[in-house]
Amino acid sequence: MQLFNLKQPDEKVSFSQAVKQGLGQNQGLFFPAQLPVFDDIDDLLAMPLAERSTQILHRLIGDEIPLDRLGEMVAEAFNFPAPLAKVDDNVYCLELFHGPTLAFKDFGARFMAQCLAQVAKGEKITILTATSGDTGAAVAHAFHGLDNIQVVILYPEGKISTLQEKLFTTLGGNIHTVAIEGDFDQCQQLVKSTFNDDEARKALHLNSANSINISRLMAQICYYFEAVAQLEDRSNLVFSVPSGNFGNLTAGMFAKVLGLPVERFVASTNLNDTVPRYLKNGEWAPNPTVATLSNAMDVSQPNNWPRIEALFEFGYLDKAILSADTVDEQYTQLAMRQLATLGYVSEPHAGVAYKALERVLEPGQTGIFLGTAHPAKFRDTVENVLGQPISLPPELAECASKEGLSETLACDYELLKQHLYKLVLG
Ligand SMILES: *Cc1c(COP(=O)(O)O)cnc(C)c1O
Repeated sequence: MQLFNLKQPDEKVSFSQAVKQGLGQNQGLFFPAQLPVFDDIDDLLAMPLAERSTQILHRLIGDEIPLDRLGEMVAEAFNFPAPLAKVDDNVYCLELFHGPTLAFKDFGARFMAQCLAQVAKGEKITILTATSGDTGAAVAHAFHGLDNIQVVILYPEGKISTLQEKLFTTLGGNIHTVAIEGDFDQCQQLVKSTFNDDEARKALHLNSANSINISRLMAQICYYFEAVAQLEDRSNLVFSVPSGNFGNLTAGMFAKVLGLPVERFVASTNLNDTVPRYLKNGEWAPNPTVATLSNAMDVSQPNNWPRIEALFEFGYLDKAILSADTVDEQYTQLAMRQLATLGYVSEPHAGVAYKALERVLEPGQTGIFLGTAHPAKFRDTVENVLGQPISLPPELAECASKEGLSETLACDYELLKQHLYKLVLG
């Protein structure tokens, strides 16, 4: 697979390089030089998830990863299902929250971890990342137990929920977690300082494993196929994707390019509505980020958007297949209550997607909204909105009773550096 940097098209890399590098020069995103169109969609849809995903990923990635090895990686990464739950006559929720951290980021993070371990070919790597909650958990679980990879996760002390914290600080082994006396932005600043420190970057063999890594997108393409595979009637399908950084939507649109029968996509956002406003008036004008109930989508500068623009610009897709809508806090709650009335307990991110879907779905169409997190992950909000108790699934209940293994550190780069050297180099 050849990719190029969208900001600097003469920078061309292989899949392995793109996985290792994350971003290109000038912070440019990598984009495939070519995208195939599959002519055997029905055959693919007839396969089980792991076998189909291996096929799709093999056709995209090519011989850089041998087919049998890729099959093992996929089996390891996608070791949980993505069921399509029927919610109403012509409405379904694609449940992407049955992985170890109960959110859809497990798909991307787990496949990325497998890819990094594969392309590093036994070289030692240190993953350093900052999290405000969910991403850290997905990354920690994805890399847990992989040989030659140490993971260090920084997070703001006391600023994430105890349950969120327990989900990634109780693993131990190659997963090291550090509570920083500061806020999330300061944690990110510490990560940046480390990457900007040439000596530390080399000594620790640093890698960021960040959310724009191409391997994540490749993995996320696969569950759109899995959704359609579960439907008997595959005509007039509309996907509503709850969007923050727009990686999830980008993957869906790639799936359409590859030939998946999808009529249209709705990008559903909360009040952080840069994209809906942009599609309406053509002006890219991010506002300051506001806090909402669907906090994993509190993003005003979505970093995957240039890839979606590229799909239009290079003629892969017509702009008309995408619309966008903003769902405010009132309507998010209303949507959750409507879903509960239909017998389906959901959480704010899926609520946003359901409401945006309901607004555009026409007779004769089938709507699928993406369930990106388990309701128990947003227990307080869900209990408040629905007025009913939510029980913890076993994964969460189990780690809630374990002891956190984090160290606490003042927000100081030199201290962090010493700590990293001690952890990684001994
Ligand atoms: C990350 C996240 C999103 C947003 O996905 P993007 O790919 O960033 O658009 C939506 N819902 C949940 C629960 C998330 O964690």
